[in-house]
Amino acid sequence: MQSLIDNARKFAERAHDLRPLADGQHPDVLFITCSDSRVVPALITGGSPGDLFELRTAGNIVPEYNEGRGSGETATIEFAIEVLEVEHIIVCGHSHCGAVNAILYPGAPSALPAIHQWLADTEPHDETRKATSFLDGDALTSAVQRHVQVQLDRLQGHPSVAKRLERGRLSLHGWFYAVGTGTVSTLDPQDGHFRPL
Ligand SMILES: [Zn+2]
Repeated sequence: MQSLIDNARKFAERAHDLRPLADGQHPDVLFITCSDSRVVPALITGGSPGDLFELRTAGNIVPEYNEGRGSGETATIEFAIEVLEVEHIIVCGHSHCGAVNAILYPGAPSALPAIHQWLADTEPHDETRKATSFLDGDALTSAVQRHVQVQLDRLQGHPSVAKRLERGRLSLHGWFYAVGTGTVSTLDPQDGHFRPL
C-alpha cells in the first residue's frame, strides 16, 4: 500500500501532460472487463488516459436490460453510447477468473452472500456451464469464453446499443486475456472460436 501512496503523491508531477484532459474526454472504446487486479486494460492495449471508458464488474457481467430497474452497469453503457458516442465495445474475459469459477463451482451462499446474489441475478448459469459439457482441456477457459459471448448477446438487448448497431455505428468485440502469458484472443463471430488477436 505504501508504494501506491508514494506514487499517488508524485503523480501531480505529470500535471503538464494531464492538463488537456481537463477539457473533456473522447474515448473511442467502452472496455468491459472483470474487476480482477491482474487485468489492466490500459497496460494490455497501450491506452493512454482518455482512450478507454471502462466498466468493471466481478466477472465482467453485463446485466439484462430492465426498463423498470436501473443499474450502475446499464447507466455506464448508456452514457458511453449516448454521450461519449463510443464506436466500439470490447467485452474482455480472462483466465483464472474467480467469478466464472464461482458460477461453475458455487460454494455456500452464506459465506459470500453478495457475490451469490450478484451471480444469481445476472448470470444464466446454464449457458456458462454449457461450455464445460462439450469441451475437453481447460474447462474454465472454455467457460469464460462462452461467458463473454453471453455478455455480448446481453449488450444487444440494451436499447442504446441496439440502436447504434442498427445504424452501423457500433462494433462489438469479444476478447479473452490469458493472465499468465499476456496473450489476447478475439472472438470470431462467424464460428464462435477465439483466436490470437
Ligand atoms: Zn475475473
